[in-house]
Amino acid sequence: MNAHAPLTRLDGACADPAAGVTIRQERGQRAVFCGLTGIVWLHRKIQDAFFLVVGSRTCAHLIQSAAGVMIFAEPRFATAIMDERDLAGIADMNDELDAVVARLIDRRPDIRLLFLVGSCPSEVIKLDLGRAAQRLSRSFAPSVRVLSYSGSGIETTFTQGEDACLASLVPEMPVSAADAEPSLLVVGALADVVEDQFARIFAALGIAPVRFLPARKAGEMPPLGQGTRYLLAQPFLTDTARALEERGATRLAAPFPLGSEGTTAWLWAAAESFGVSRARFESVVAPGQARAATALAPYRQRLADKRVFFFPDSQLEIPLARFLSREMGAELIEVGTPYLHRGHLADELALLPAGTQIVEGQSLDDQMDRCREAKPDLTVCGLGLANPLEAEGLATKWSIELLFTPIQGYDQAGDLAELFARPLLRRTRLEV
Ligand code: SF4
Repeated sequence: MNAHAPLTRLDGACADPAAGVTIRQERGQRAVFCGLTGIVWLHRKIQDAFFLVVGSRTCAHLIQSAAGVMIFAEPRFATAIMDERDLAGIADMNDELDAVVARLIDRRPDIRLLFLVGSCPSEVIKLDLGRAAQRLSRSFAPSVRVLSYSGSGIETTFTQGEDACLASLVPEMPVSAADAEPSLLVVGALADVVEDQFARIFAALGIAPVRFLPARKAGEMPPLGQGTRYLLAQPFLTDTARALEERGATRLAAPFPLGSEGTTAWLWAAAESFGVSRARFESVVAPGQARAATALAPYRQRLADKRVFFFPDSQLEIPLARFLSREMGAELIEVGTPYLHRGHLADELALLPAGTQIVEGQSLDDQMDRCREAKPDLTVCGLGLANPLEAEGLATKWSIELLFTPIQGYDQAGDLAELFARPLLRRTRLEV
């Protein structure tokens, strides 16, 4: 689990002198999805991987309803359901798990990488999935590698499942043959179309080699060396970043590639590190910036001066707030985030308007009260809060949609703005 950033407290709040924002920590009831949710986008990304949740019927329902699986599809995830006998310790869970995995691999010979994903029930009975993964890896080597991570709601929130999954991949990354040679690693699951766009921009800048984690195939995970410089594409990858640094990689500090401004600053961090001149950089990014400006213009009219309230959910809240405020002219009432990594978010915090109220953690009732009192034009929140808030007359945006939709880069900036403008438009139509 991500550690909360240490904060100096003054009446429960502190002003970050570097960023001019106010950061307050809150503790209480939370309303967030668990880390199993990440399977919904990760299974599309690593094309020969399979995610086996070791959990309850609740876990199976969560994954199936979040993924909207059609019954005819051969999905690349499933749940090994633990029943009362397992939970009571009557059955040997390891024997049962081995049998389930053997049946699965026999039926699905295309699987090259199997993730055993821990859940609340497997955590509670202390089922050691790490050891199970090692044992099963030995049984199925060399054709299938078995890894494990936790998506349990006890340990993780919504996007931390991706962090745990990618962190489990880091020890599997080969040692770079050219250990000290500079290379760029982009870290975080991006839609293939976005990855391809970034790869083309890096090529035009003359930056090479450029690799992505996760790779699209299990056998193609990128090599790591002392010369690896990595750019985080997502703001919730604390454990993955730590694991990469333990293997000698160096993080390039940058904002995140959301909106035109964030994308430019993110790309520039890589360009500067690889000695690309500012003139060359600007000529390469100018067409993308122009496309983004054209795409954003109509949404700026709809979002300008709209008052936005963020509940803590995806850990994307701070970069999104920066985008809405600086590029769309929205007003930020409160920006909640489940965890705040001050190092990874430093460049984002510095771009937020002075006086932005950031709340780390959650006390649901207090936050609901503040939201109702503020009557925002738009509330960004989890699925569970959206319906009640809509029923009270507030326009909402589900934060989970921001993980399922390609939103990074110049060519997705308009789509990102549209995601926020759509609920406002829908409400206008309802009011007519
Ligand atoms: S892992 Fe825990 S929080 Fe997530 S669906 Fe399963 S029981 Fe619920």
